[in-house]
Amino acid sequence: MSTFQAPKGTYDLTPPRSATFLAVREAISAPLRDSGYGYIETPGFENVELFARGVGESTDIVTKEMYTLTTKGGDQLALRPEGTASVLRAALEANLHKAGNLPVKLWYSGSYYRYERPQAGRYRHFSQVGAEAIGTEDPALDAELIILADQAYRSLGLRRFRILLNSLGDKECRPVYREALQTFLRDLDLDEETRRRIEINPLRVLDDKRADVQKQLTDAPKLRDYLCDACKAYHEEVRALLTAAGVAFEDDEKLVRGLDYYTRTTFEFVHDGLGSQSAVGGGGRYDGLSEMIGGPELPSVGWALGVDRTVLALEAESVELDLPATTSVYAVPLGEEARRVLFGVVTELRLAGIAADFAFGGRGLKGAMKSANRSGARYTLVAGERDLAEGVVQLKDMESGEQSAVPLAEAAAELAKRLG
Ligand code: AMP
Repeated sequence: MSTFQAPKGTYDLTPPRSATFLAVREAISAPLRDSGYGYIETPGFENVELFARGVGESTDIVTKEMYTLTTKGGDQLALRPEGTASVLRAALEANLHKAGNLPVKLWYSGSYYRYERPQAGRYRHFSQVGAEAIGTEDPALDAELIILADQAYRSLGLRRFRILLNSLGDKECRPVYREALQTFLRDLDLDEETRRRIEINPLRVLDDKRADVQKQLTDAPKLRDYLCDACKAYHEEVRALLTAAGVAFEDDEKLVRGLDYYTRTTFEFVHDGLGSQSAVGGGGRYDGLSEMIGGPELPSVGWALGVDRTVLALEAESVELDLPATTSVYAVPLGEEARRVLFGVVTELRLAGIAADFAFGGRGLKGAMKSANRSGARYTLVAGERDLAEGVVQLKDMESGEQSAVPLAEAAAELAKRLG
């Protein structure tokens, strides 16, 4: 292993690709910020118990994928494998739900950690932008979140994604279905681990990716046939609101998701250009989670979109984001005196809100102009001894190639004018 290699299953974000990641985070959060969601940030780690109780003892995330550690003080912590449990914990701790303004709408962006088998699109450290709407049961809220994620992906120019939608029922009807499913599954030809799963979390067997398992599941009882009237009506309303908003979705009764806390509405955004790791985002309603972690009854709904996979989806669709050059003006000094003077101009430009950069390191004109080109700057400022003696700098328009002498004292104002 090379000394400079990032740990297995991780990678670094470096320029220029890192700019795309920032733009994706920005694009995903923009519709949320415009819709009453406030920013929340929680620690990168939590007490193990939060996830064990919240995400579910029997889930792969908790049993196999969590990075756990014992601190020197003896605390059992886990690097966060997902965002919802932490955000709900933080909202409860801050009593946001008691401020009398429900739902509490929050968005977040950060790093998540799962000890998974690395492959294309699956990493041990990844990045999500998420949203949670806490404390309200209203189909319009479920619809809002799905519409905002759809809007985010569209604003990025993505087209080849689909929305899969399902209802998992509630504490009335799901147990009845669960039992019917268990009875069906127990008669199938399955391996030991899957048999154990039947007893702990039978719905997740439906999610098994293996063809031989899927073949046996064709006649499995369908959750849809067991939904109680309240859940059915709720789900129909979510579907109607999405349709009215022009958001296309596919009913997918096999969609169960890997976390235990979901109830009623569940959905996933999948992208058809990503191979096996096709889920770019997912979420749903989690009416029981607050109580599972020791809080009051707070019906809630949320989603998390994977930033890494969204970037891969953009690449799969060959979408080039329109990222404006970060540098508007690049200054190239020729000689010591010019260095001092132009450095001053650069500082002045920056204070005026103009993005400016400087040829550091006293390089020659040719190398410095190459850097100016690479920076994407619209203008360069070049000055040598003779220019300074005349009290001017050379201002070059990098698009037209035109160059003119501008009085030094007016350079910043002239650039501000030209850059609008
Ligand atoms: P989940 O909570 O598992 O539904 O994750 C939500 C989204 O996060 C997924 O749709 C992925 O886009 C992303 N995600 C989850 N796990 C990983 C991972 N190991 N590597 C990269 N992205 C991930």
